[in-house]
Amino acid sequence: MTAASTPPASTYVFLDSCTACGACLLTCPEHAIVPTLPLQVRADRCTSCGECVEVCPADAVLEVRRDEARA
Ligand code: SF4
Ligand code: SF4
Repeated sequence: MTAASTPPASTYVFLDSCTACGACLLTCPEHAIVPTLPLQVRADRCTSCGECVEVCPADAVLEVRRDEARA
């Protein structure tokens, strides 16, 4: 039995090096990034695809795996 809504495997943290260029917002296929300062990821939409990490020119997106976060 699995729960109907499984949380994504990772959460994402935006570091101070973010220049607010908007690349991750435009790239996210799920429109999961909320354009606040700092940016936030909606856990109910994010699929942990990692594209925001890949596209960021400032290395400002940090992936935090939930299993590591619990450890
Ligand atoms: S991991 Fe994928 S779905 Fe989640 S915020 Fe980044 S680009 Fe969007
Ligand atoms: S791509 Fe990187 S620098 Fe650009 S808005 Fe997103 S987190 Fe900030």
